[in-house]
Amino acid sequence: MSEITHRKNTRRVRVGNLVIGGNDEVIIQSMTTTKTEDVEATVEEISRLEEAGCHIVRVACPNEKAADALPEIKSRINIPLVVDIHFNYKLALKAIEAGADKIRINPGNIGSREKVEMVVKAAKEKGVPIRIGVNAGSLERHLLEKYGYPTADAMVESALHHIAILEELDFHDIIVSMKASDVNLAVEAYTKAAEAFSYPLHLGITESGTLFAGTVKSSAGLGAILEKGIGNTMRISLSADPVEEVKVARELTKTFGLASDAATLIACPTCGRIEIDLISIANDVEEYISEVKAPLKVAVLGCAVNGPGEAREADIGIAGAKGEGLLFRHGEIIRKVPEETMVDELKKEVDKLAEEHFAK
Ligand code: SF4
Repeated sequence: MSEITHRKNTRRVRVGNLVIGGNDEVIIQSMTTTKTEDVEATVEEISRLEEAGCHIVRVACPNEKAADALPEIKSRINIPLVVDIHFNYKLALKAIEAGADKIRINPGNIGSREKVEMVVKAAKEKGVPIRIGVNAGSLERHLLEKYGYPTADAMVESALHHIAILEELDFHDIIVSMKASDVNLAVEAYTKAAEAFSYPLHLGITESGTLFAGTVKSSAGLGAILEKGIGNTMRISLSADPVEEVKVARELTKTFGLASDAATLIACPTCGRIEIDLISIANDVEEYISEVKAPLKVAVLGCAVNGPGEAREADIGIAGAKGEGLLFRHGEIIRKVPEETMVDELKKEVDKLAEEHFAK
């Protein structure tokens, strides 16, 4: 199995029981779509996200009612809670008081120096980091006038402006996002940001679209950024159930060998040599391994002609043969199993390997 590749060397920022930056992990985030004040619906959605493999969840906090709901939400979930605030320092203070593990607010938008100081002081006292969210669509007016339109340099300048406000107050638990809906702009902005400062980067292609189109667009953009070794946490933004965002993010991190808590499926595209009902078996196995929290590679192949050899990196796999299945590990066939039980046999082997992984 290939090793997890190294990420950009960044500052380590603690968010609840997790660390963002300075390690090989890309932490997966999503955002709830419920009204935050609807505690039942919000907690239910967070539970589904957690089950899908979401590491950190963000909720919107646009008003007092939402802020009032935060303590109960926090007490009923298991993953770190990020509270998203625009401008309002009072809501930021309430969120910190309520136990938020991180807040997302741009210090340059809070207002007077006194208000900024109050928020920073409270965040520092409780060890709550701040995410600065630079967005190409909402850059400061003076930057748009200077650059003419949203550019990567304008976005980096905006980030540095907000960072400077926090650093001046000796606050360094900072995470920065540089979101744009234009993929090329996002790639350039993140690349330049990684050169300009060493705070961890939260990746995202904003407003990327519906499930299918948004998945392709986000994967293209974030894939290009991850490939450069940049990015410590990510959210896929889809106009879909947020559970889908987590599924896509998990698949993307797995693709780059950056998920230490998820198994990957290798499945052949099928061709005229196929000996088994591969598509339904692949879907069944994919569903099964979505619960496996070990970094295993599991292969499902239509035939034994090219199969096992082509999937040499698989920790365990099955290839179809006439009326039977061939179980193989790292390209070597280990035994034959009857067709009717081959999927169950594969699942048992997956469970065994996962146990071995955790026993190490
Ligand atoms: Fe075709 Fe076999 Fe390759 Fe699948 S593994 S694509 S069935 S040759």
